[in-house]
Amino acid sequence: MLRLARRNKASMVYASTSEAYGDPQVHPQPENYWGNVNTWGPRACYDEGKRLGEVYCYEYFDKFQVKVKVARIFNTYSAELRNDDGRVISNFVNQAIQNQDITVYGDGSQTRSFCYVDDLLGGLIRMMESDAATGEIINLGNPQEYRVLEVAELTKRLAQSHSRITFHPLPENDPRIRRPVIDKAKALLGWEPVVTLEEGLLRTIEIYRSRFNKYGGGA
Ligand code: UDP
Repeated sequence: MLRLARRNKASMVYASTSEAYGDPQVHPQPENYWGNVNTWGPRACYDEGKRLGEVYCYEYFDKFQVKVKVARIFNTYSAELRNDDGRVISNFVNQAIQNQDITVYGDGSQTRSFCYVDDLLGGLIRMMESDAATGEIINLGNPQEYRVLEVAELTKRLAQSHSRITFHPLPENDPRIRRPVIDKAKALLGWEPVVTLEEGLLRTIEIYRSRFNKYGGGA
């Protein structure tokens, strides 16, 4: 894609990730934090793969003046996550609407900051359109931070579910904390998210539920 962008003098947004910060030792995470990533573990291929992509972007920007922009995308959700995606929001919502056990990994004290997809897409579109973003890394995410256990309780309450909240082993190298600093996105793009987790979860629950009522659990 970088070669194509160079040849066609196109600009390019690279969808990078908050995983570039790994299990961060700086909190919240600004773009100039270099991160804390284990190269030897189950998350390494994703984290380091995305980081290497950033390096290619940098080289093409620096050597060939390709107009690259790097979006570091934090946890994003909507009802378009597949039922079996395995991520926390799709798991919790699907479990809650079926009154199945809600599966919290670890003690649920780890944190994440969740951005509703409409907000995130708005940020990506602004990035595509912005010259000020060229050659920049910009965090895109919602800075409202929640403990995973709080997300389980909130989902259960909003879905009016009878699920039990159960605890399971924490995956290896699961980051303890995560929250973006979005000052750069505000300054360069005039962007910040507006959908709260409560609003976004209500929309997500409603859509998963109507799909579940129509097609059952397989869709
Ligand atoms: N998680 C959980 N139960 C689940 C799925 C995930 O407690 O059924 C936790 C997971 O251990 C992590 C957080 O929720 O701490 C977010 O996980 P996800 O896979 O959605 O995103 P990521 O870890 O990549 O940020």
